[in-house]
Amino acid sequence: MRRATKAAMAIGVACLPLPAVAVDGKASTPGVSVIREGSTEKSTGAAANFSGTARVEGRFQREAPARIGGGTVTFAPGAHTAWHTHPLGQTLVVTRGRGYVQQWGQPAERFGPGDVVWIGPGIKHWHGAGPDEAMTHVALAESSKGQSVTWGELVSDAQYTAAVRNQPR
Ligand code: MN
Repeated sequence: MRRATKAAMAIGVACLPLPAVAVDGKASTPGVSVIREGSTEKSTGAAANFSGTARVEGRFQREAPARIGGGTVTFAPGAHTAWHTHPLGQTLVVTRGRGYVQQWGQPAERFGPGDVVWIGPGIKHWHGAGPDEAMTHVALAESSKGQSVTWGELVSDAQYTAAVRNQPR
């Protein structure tokens, strides 16, 4: 017996099947789905778009009319994205470690577990780990015309060093 079912029975809750038809009456396939942890391919961020090692897990892209897509990204200490933009913005939910986000022309901002970062549409930025600590965030972005990110140039070592300098550890 599945653990969730056992737990539900233990507290006396009936497990009712969910209807397979959406509220608008159209069949939805599937109505609800769960991507099991570890069931999706892990990938490594391309060297053209990331400095250092960034591992991506649980990547997903919903079908229209939904636009949301994302994944969980773990940055090794010092690893970070290249400069890039998102046509409809991006939300980062930080789950582990401390890292940084920087908008072009602005000072970097440090963040940590439980923080939720918003990057507006078309804003040029990078995000990633601090120099001494790995960082994991869930990255969520809506796509426009099939595109959720436009990559630019790598963040130079001088730009990264300047961004994280004089920040509290
Ligand atoms: Mn981004």
